[in-house]
Amino acid sequence: MEFKLDEEQTAIRKAVREFAEKEFTPELALEFDQKEEFPMALYKKAAQLGFTSMRIPQEYDGQGYGVLEDCLVVEEMCRVDPGIGVAISLGNLMIPDVLLKHGNEEQKKKYIPPLARGDKIAAAAFTEPEHGSDITCMNSTAVKTGNEWTINGAKEFITNATTADTFILLCQTDPNAQPTYRGQSLFIAEKGMCGLDATKLHGKMGIKPCVTGSLSMSDLKVTEANVVGEVGRGFYYTLELFDGTRITVAAQAVGMAQGAFEKALAYAKTRKQSGQPIINFQGISHKLAQMAIKIESARLLMYKAAWLYDKEKPNPVATSMAKAYASRAAMEVTDDAIQVFGGYGYLADYHVERFHRCAKITEIYEGTTEVQKNTIVGYLMKQP
Ligand SMILES: Cc1cc2nc3c(=O)[nH]c(=O)nc-3n(C[C@H](O)[C@H](O)[C@H](O)COP(=O)(O)OP(=O)(O)OC[C@H]3O[C@@H](n4cnc5c(N)ncnc54)[C@H](O)[C@@H]3O)c2cc1C
Repeated sequence: MEFKLDEEQTAIRKAVREFAEKEFTPELALEFDQKEEFPMALYKKAAQLGFTSMRIPQEYDGQGYGVLEDCLVVEEMCRVDPGIGVAISLGNLMIPDVLLKHGNEEQKKKYIPPLARGDKIAAAAFTEPEHGSDITCMNSTAVKTGNEWTINGAKEFITNATTADTFILLCQTDPNAQPTYRGQSLFIAEKGMCGLDATKLHGKMGIKPCVTGSLSMSDLKVTEANVVGEVGRGFYYTLELFDGTRITVAAQAVGMAQGAFEKALAYAKTRKQSGQPIINFQGISHKLAQMAIKIESARLLMYKAAWLYDKEKPNPVATSMAKAYASRAAMEVTDDAIQVFGGYGYLADYHVERFHRCAKITEIYEGTTEVQKNTIVGYLMKQP
């Protein structure tokens, strides 16, 4: 029972599955979950095999596939381990996507190939302490004097903040613009620039190998060469970016659900109570059936959104439906997986509680589920 992938897509899935199963060992997964460290060596290995640059064109050292192929990779990696899988899949977060669409040739050549090869790490900074779901107005400002921009402000919850080499920052460039989002622009910054500082956040619930941090920009100077696309278009570029990247968050969720489900199914077949495998109890077998239904539904929504993105045109409603549904399915399926394991499910060594802890983030980042539902309702309201 599965969506029919073509021969090349099937081969990609097989290759990444083999890679993840060999490299993301249960011992390593527990180790990285405890030490909250980015798995740099594994990231570089995955990058060498092309798994971190699926949707980057070959002319910039990528693989030249679409969002669907990227989703296959993300799903398989998160199926084997949700923490390492997410960390690796977010290593070159968003910068290639936005530069491919709006960067100039110089920016593309300078920034994309090192990210595609896994030599460098990216971070994309939109969220601020006071602006999360609503990024229509930024407190971070960029002020132009001559050929130079001076950036001041703070960003919160930034993936790869302390490991990244290249950053994009959403800033308010026109504080008087009405509506305010018409006065926002995107800037590229680089590690080591004077005035750009990162602090690591500790104590996350899940995805611990994926490093998260705060950024502070204090009289950070960049030039005109660091402006992405047109001044005043940053908010639009950001929303457009999310139409694609949110589908890969749905893929993370599907992978996590699938991984936990497989563990629960195997356990239910072997764990005996009252003289028989617990899968013989309808309370358990129907739970597993329901888990399978949810995963399959989530996967189809995710594939559909990816297919529309690649073949027709990005469809924000399909993307939001995929992300909202898949992330909820991941929360429910991983919760049920713990229940199937009983008390053992509550222990780290049985490798299902980690899936549940990691799944929660898929309902929060790149737009919470409530924000996705606002997008869906916005579309429904416009229907006759
Ligand atoms: C681990 C992690 C990694 C992250 N990585 C990044 C990153 O790399 N880059 C980046 O820019 N950001 C990142 N984020 C930030 C993330 O995108 C935000 O946390 C998220 O968008 C929600 O913003 P907030 O936390 O300020 O919550 P708030 O916006 O304050 O929301 C609080 C609650 O109110 C609800 N709510 C808010 N507005 C509405 C509304 N209009 N309608 C209905 N409900 C609403 C929300 O759904 C939520 O339930 C990350 C966050 C985490 C936890």
